[in-house]
Amino acid sequence: MNKDLIENLGDNHISSSTETPLTPNAFDKSDDEKIENIQYHFAKIMEELGLDLTDDSLSGTPYRFAKMYVKELFYGLNPKNKPKLSVFENKYQYKKMLIEQNITIDSSCEHHFLPITGHAHIAYIPKGKVIGLSKINRLVDYYAHRPQVQERLSLQILKDLQGILNTKDVMVMITAKHLCVSSRGIKDKDSFTTTMEYDGEFNKTKVRAEFFSALKQGDQL
Ligand SMILES: [Zn+2]
Repeated sequence: MNKDLIENLGDNHISSSTETPLTPNAFDKSDDEKIENIQYHFAKIMEELGLDLTDDSLSGTPYRFAKMYVKELFYGLNPKNKPKLSVFENKYQYKKMLIEQNITIDSSCEHHFLPITGHAHIAYIPKGKVIGLSKINRLVDYYAHRPQVQERLSLQILKDLQGILNTKDVMVMITAKHLCVSSRGIKDKDSFTTTMEYDGEFNKTKVRAEFFSALKQGDQL
């Protein structure tokens, strides 16, 4: 790909598919091996920038960086880290909308590897199954902790919840700030991005309106 095309693609935040693009052997190496290799390569990047890695303040940075990538920022790449999402029979027969609001989004954009921060608001209308509330937060955290595109993040959460809850009646809304928009390129500090993915009952305008009005009420808590 030529450099102009690469820059344009990054700024348009184009996502290629719902699945995060991974190589077939993505998890053949252990976390420790990955940390060791990334540490080596990041030291090279720092050296290339002219930084003196014998300085006490910088010497540990390649290791800290590698560990942070593998164990923290991108732990959600590895399916073995996916949270167990137990569901329960809907014994209460609760059949109306349930909303989990203001779930923290801590993610990174896959085009610039810079932070995406904001909130997810998730609603579903239970059929036979319900899910523990904190499990929704854990699922969001898992998918957020990989190089992402906000649109794909919304879809991955939606599809998983639809599968687990065995219903199409799910809505995922994410509002987030992208550091690649605020700190480079256009450097707009105030704009943020909203994505909405939904299906089933949420295709109805009045059901979405109920969701939005509940979010507004929730904001006043
Ligand atoms: Zn970006």
